[in-house]
Amino acid sequence: MRSRVFFFVDPVNPTSTFPETLALKRQCVIHGKPFVATLAGAIEWVGVEMAMARLASTAASDDCPLSPPESQVVALIAHDARKSDMMAFATEYFELLSRFSGRVATGTTGSRLNEIAWSKGWPASMPWVTCYQSGPLGGDAQIAELVLDRRCQKVIFFEDPHVARQHEADIQLLDRAVYSAGEVTTCFNTPAMTRRWAQAMSLQ
Ligand code: PGA
Repeated sequence: MRSRVFFFVDPVNPTSTFPETLALKRQCVIHGKPFVATLAGAIEWVGVEMAMARLASTAASDDCPLSPPESQVVALIAHDARKSDMMAFATEYFELLSRFSGRVATGTTGSRLNEIAWSKGWPASMPWVTCYQSGPLGGDAQIAELVLDRRCQKVIFFEDPHVARQHEADIQLLDRAVYSAGEVTTCFNTPAMTRRWAQAMSLQ
């Protein structure tokens, strides 16, 4: 976990879609290394590392770079091979995720997350997470629109880098939306990165 990549991807620069850029992010996902691609993400990741270095008292000051969940909407997305990781993460950090002002998800991921929430006593009359279309049917593109509108500030996306994705264009669109709204949006692409953030939050 020691190495991490900070790469501010400029969405209006053609290099943002060069194979080398995609390959760098893919390698980070494969090896569970943090890939931080936005200004908001870099500021938050400094807060994560400060907290994990047991500088929690500093991180808890007014300058704390860890955004309060209450002021953010979080998107939760997992490809099939990563869905069990997402369910385990949501089960373990249910209270943290419940603090967000809103939760959105692609269809299948969201349905399973709602089942977990209801099993934990979340009121049956209301969904814990708002479900959009399934990923291959446009759900990632719908969430990209929320990100571009600054209505979703954190994207937790457990990607499967080992399969050809029929909706690869939509996945890249979501990445591009995150980069375009990079002053307010953070994105975590792996369980390892997301768990490190959640552990840091628990130290606040
Ligand atoms: P799903 O979509 O939650 O509907 O499976 C995830 C994705 O493939 O992007």
